[in-house]
Amino acid sequence: MPIKSVPGFLLLAILMTIDLTLSGQTACGVSDADQRSWIGRYQENIRHSGSLDLRSENRALPIVFHLLGRDNGTGRPPLNNVLDLMCSTANLLDSAGFDLYLIEGGVNIVDNEGVYFQHHLAGNQQTMRTLKMDSAVNVFVVADAGSGSTGSVLGYYDLQDDWIVISRNQIKSGNVTLAHEIGHFLSLVHTHFGWDGQPWQASIHGPKAPLIAPNGVTETEKMDGSNCLTAGDQLCDTPPDYNIGLSWTQSCTYNGDARDPDSVALDPDETQIMSYFSDACRAVFSAEQMAIMQTDWDSPARAFLRRSYVPSADTISDIPQLLMPTSAVQTSTGDLSFSWTKTAGATHYLLQVDRAVGFNLSPRDFIVADTFFTLSGPWIEQTSYFWRIFAFHESATCLAPSVPSTFSVETITGLSPELTPPTWRAMYDQNNQTIRVVDVEPGSSFELVNLEGKIICSMREAAISRNRTFTFQVSHLPAGLYIIRDPRYNSLPQKIVIR
Ligand SMILES: [Zn+2]
Repeated sequence: MPIKSVPGFLLLAILMTIDLTLSGQTACGVSDADQRSWIGRYQENIRHSGSLDLRSENRALPIVFHLLGRDNGTGRPPLNNVLDLMCSTANLLDSAGFDLYLIEGGVNIVDNEGVYFQHHLAGNQQTMRTLKMDSAVNVFVVADAGSGSTGSVLGYYDLQDDWIVISRNQIKSGNVTLAHEIGHFLSLVHTHFGWDGQPWQASIHGPKAPLIAPNGVTETEKMDGSNCLTAGDQLCDTPPDYNIGLSWTQSCTYNGDARDPDSVALDPDETQIMSYFSDACRAVFSAEQMAIMQTDWDSPARAFLRRSYVPSADTISDIPQLLMPTSAVQTSTGDLSFSWTKTAGATHYLLQVDRAVGFNLSPRDFIVADTFFTLSGPWIEQTSYFWRIFAFHESATCLAPSVPSTFSVETITGLSPELTPPTWRAMYDQNNQTIRVVDVEPGSSFELVNLEGKIICSMREAAISRNRTFTFQVSHLPAGLYIIRDPRYNSLPQKIVIR
C-alpha cells in the first residue's frame, strides 16, 4: 500500500523538531521510507539467518572515516575522539561477531568546506563519491549530518551510495550513533519500525495502541509475542517498541503509559542499539539481529567487505614515553622535532599538541607511523605547550595516551633545526656502572635526562676526551629508562636502560 509522501515528510520534520527540543538527540536520519527501501534485503537475511555459517572467529569489518573540515583545516573532531569512538564501537560490534578495523588510510583528512557544511548538495555528493573507498564501510563526518533536507540529525545510512554520514559532535567515546548506523548498513531496521514518523503519544495512541502502526502498513507488535514474526521489526527477540526512546530520556527504565493493542503495558528494551533510547542505555544487538548482520556480511552484495586479510590481533600495553621536547626548546625556523619511544604492537601514533593540558583548546593532531615527527610553527613564545602520544593499530585504539609533557619555544637565529640521526652512540656498561658515548663530534655536548625531563648531569665539549668518547658515571641512579640527548637539539636523542 502506497504511503502519502507529503504528510510523511511533514511528520518527519515535526519529529526532528521534537528530537532537538525534548530528547537526548538520539534520532538517526533514517526514515520509515528509507528502511522500507531495504526491507526486502532485511527479510531475505532473516530467512537465510537460520542457516548462517556459524564460525568461531569474528567477521572482519573494514572501516574508513572521511573527516571533513573547513578549507582552513578547522572544524574536525580531535583525532583522539575518532580513536575513542573506534574503540567503543569495536567493543559493541565484537559482541555481535565483528572485528572492526581501520583500512590503510582509514583516517582520511579532507579539507572541503562544501562537503563539510552542505554534503547533501549534488556537487558535494559527487565529491564524496570520488572520496569513497572500495572494500570498507565508508563514514563521512561532517558539520551536521542533517543539514538541509531533513533538519538536524545525528547520522544516517544512505542506501543509494551505501555510506554513513554522521555529525562531528557524535565522534566521541561511548557514542552509539555509529554502531546504530552500522546496524542499518548491515540491513537492520529500528526496533520501533512502523513508528518512525510518529512516536507513541498518549493523546494520539492511548489508552491502547492501534493494530496498525502510524506508517499505515506495519502491524503493531504485541507484548504477548503472538505477532512478533510479522509485526514491528519482525523479530521475536526484540520486544515491542513504539519509538518510545525518542521522548523517554529521564532514565533507562521505561515506565510510561504506552500500552499495546491488548492493553498490556509496553516494556521495550531500552538497551537496544537499534532503538532511540539514549546512549547511556543502548549497548546490545539481539541474537537475531546479530545473525541478520552476519548473514548480510556473508551475502553476495557484501563481497567487497570480505577481503583476504586478517586484521592484527596484537595487544598494545606499553604507553609511549615522551623523549623530546621536554623543556625549553630553541628553533630558528619554527620547526620543532618530537620523538617518543616505540611501543610493542603499535603501528601508528597520534601526536597531539595544544596550549591546554586538557588538549581541548585548539589541539593540533597528526597520525605518524614512526616515532618522530617535525612540526612547524608558528609558536607563541613564553607560552607553555603540552603534547602527548596515543599508540594504536588498525584494530586496537583503546590505549590511554602518554602522560603529557610540556615545553616552551624560543625562536632564535643561527641554529639548524633539522634533526639528523646521531653519529654518536650511547652504551650502558653494567660492570662499570657507566654510560659511554662514543663517536662524538668535536664541539658536542650531552645531557642525561630522566623520564620526568629532569637533567641529571650535563657535559660540555671540554670534558670530552680526545678519543671522541665520553663517560657518565651512573652508579648512583635507580634502574630505569633514561635519555641521552644533545641539548642544542642538533640530533635525535637516544634512550638507554640502566639496570
Ligand atoms: Zn536509525
